[in-house]
Amino acid sequence: MSPALEARALLLDTHPYREADLVVRLFLPDRGNVSAMARSARSSRKRFPSGLDRLTLADVRLSSRSGRGMPTLESAQVVEVWWNVRSDIGKVAAASLLAELLLKAHVEPGEAGPLFEFACAVLNRLDSAQQASGEPAALLAAGGILHRLHLLPRPLVCSRCFAKDAAAPTFPAWLDGSTGELRCNAHVERRSQSLALQEHELQLLTLAGGDPSDFPIGPELAAIASPVLQRLEPLLVRTFGSNLRSLAFLREIS
Ligand SMILES: [Zn+2]
Repeated sequence: MSPALEARALLLDTHPYREADLVVRLFLPDRGNVSAMARSARSSRKRFPSGLDRLTLADVRLSSRSGRGMPTLESAQVVEVWWNVRSDIGKVAAASLLAELLLKAHVEPGEAGPLFEFACAVLNRLDSAQQASGEPAALLAAGGILHRLHLLPRPLVCSRCFAKDAAAPTFPAWLDGSTGELRCNAHVERRSQSLALQEHELQLLTLAGGDPSDFPIGPELAAIASPVLQRLEPLLVRTFGSNLRSLAFLREIS
């Protein structure tokens, strides 16, 4: 990292450190995950007058004396707080999953920008939605991140025959939970490790790769989204680790 860096950043998480400091975990559009030390952030509000809450958007200034090690968070000017996300438990659960997956993602160069844009768009979508249900919103977060990490085929077609609608003419289509590969009903090999997707479920998963504002997150979608999310879990665990606390949280509240 160069001596000083100014960037717009998503604050994903914070951890108390020593007596007065805070380790802040940020997501930057040009480099993905960055941890930074916010000195005295817990003892004084001087440098961070609006606080350093998770799931806020801020213009940050980072510095690194030697160019190595953990940079220091010099300042953070809050740009967006998404207050409405904090007033609904389903929205909180979906936003928590979004943050957890971003924190645990192995982001290749070029993927950080689209992921950053996506995360902000999901939080905007959750914030402005009259009604949101935890499971469809969480499916949007999980499916959208998997798509942008190139872990879901796009378009969702059979990797063997490239059948246009994957399972033509018969559904289900099969998504391999260990590779993220999609196979049509004729070409599925590891059926036991694959999740069977019906046409409307495949459509929902395809939608998660698009514009978040087009994705339905209302409670009427909960019954459809819930099994898809459940069947995506092996792929999520394989990619992001087995201890996905926000998935457990989601199960508790639904
Ligand atoms: Zn096929």
